[in-house]
Amino acid sequence: MTWRASVVTLFPEMFPGPLGQSLAGKGLRDGRWAIDTLDIRGFATDRHRTVDDTPFGGGAGMVMRPDVVDAALAAADAAGPDRPAVYLTPRGRPLDQALVRDLAAGPGVVLLCGRYEGVDQRVIEARGLMEVSIGDYVLSGGEPAALVLLDACIRLLPGVMGAAESAAEESHANGLLEYPHYTRPADWQGRAVPPVLLSGHHAEVAKWRQTEAERATRERRPDLWAKHVTHDAAPGAMDG
Ligand code: SAM
Repeated sequence: MTWRASVVTLFPEMFPGPLGQSLAGKGLRDGRWAIDTLDIRGFATDRHRTVDDTPFGGGAGMVMRPDVVDAALAAADAAGPDRPAVYLTPRGRPLDQALVRDLAAGPGVVLLCGRYEGVDQRVIEARGLMEVSIGDYVLSGGEPAALVLLDACIRLLPGVMGAAESAAEESHANGLLEYPHYTRPADWQGRAVPPVLLSGHHAEVAKWRQTEAERATRERRPDLWAKHVTHDAAPGAMDG
């Protein structure tokens, strides 16, 4: 079955956008994944096609109406098999590779993109939306966040990534950042490639890469390193 994304948005013309290019674009043309968009404005019921209103309690900005968003989400549900529904929001759980892997392994995803101050809380609760953030900063809309989430999932779908771009060794595959990469020329501006990489000794290369992956994680991401060390130390951690 084709992995299907349904994107609920006020800006359907933003999709597939960059996902129509490169590996994701080829995957789309090859039918490895599919995308449809639902224009939230099309679900407004008044003649002005109103999708937002002022916040109860006062304050700046506008809030997306629950009834309009709910109708759009219902239409998205009907567009594909039973899929998890995600609201992109800076208030959500951080997107990570484990969640990406889970979503990519399922039938697809429904993505709700907010605008303005965001979506009325009641539709999030009523529909049990999973709230996901792509980082600790604020975008002007959920569409770029949806593109990020989709890109990360699509490249893991069977047949999308070429053999040359393996997901097995890259950053976050095993809780570590990846080791650094080098290519020709072996000497560039007086900077030599680490000699072990030219040695042809596969076991030594693998050892060097593991050491460098651990060093990068320890130095750059102490949070990931702490999790990695705890996981490795846990009883039975190596069993599965
Ligand atoms: N008032 C909201 C807050 O402070 O949490 C921010 C609203 S933001 C201007 C408009 C929309 O952009 C949000 O509803 C959400 O869909 C999207 N968005 C902004 N930052 C995001 C992030 N870091 N991750 C995912 N979505 C984000």
